[in-house]
Amino acid sequence: MVRTINTDIFTLNQKSLPAGKEDLPAAMDLLDTLRANSERCVGMAANMIGVNRRIIAVDMGAAAVLMLNPVIVRKYGDTYEAEEGCLSHTGTKRTLRSQNVEVQFQDMNFKSHRQTFSGLTAQIIQHEIDHCDGILI
Ligand SMILES: [Zn+2]
Repeated sequence: MVRTINTDIFTLNQKSLPAGKEDLPAAMDLLDTLRANSERCVGMAANMIGVNRRIIAVDMGAAAVLMLNPVIVRKYGDTYEAEEGCLSHTGTKRTLRSQNVEVQFQDMNFKSHRQTFSGLTAQIIQHEIDHCDGILI
């Protein structure tokens, strides 16, 4: 189900709680909402649809991937200044991103994965995990 984008700064500034099995319907809604906004958005975190759980959806070009409880375990390579926009607020902001990130996350079956991402995908993941930590870029 496509949900309305949350633009309430107070709730967006809260740290999200761990995601559990009961949050899977919300995760599917997050994926639906990302797809519905694919022309102007490449990633979303659950608090952007008003769900205070650590769930992100990332557009990886060929497919959109859901990550439950994602954690960046390592950042490496060059850092660069990125200018990022966000559906939850207007305008763009500048922030520092790492070229590569190693991420630990769970899939929809709660199987753990540890994977390395680089470039734009790494940037999207860093932006969305910031959302889970209550950081708005
Ligand atoms: Zn955002």
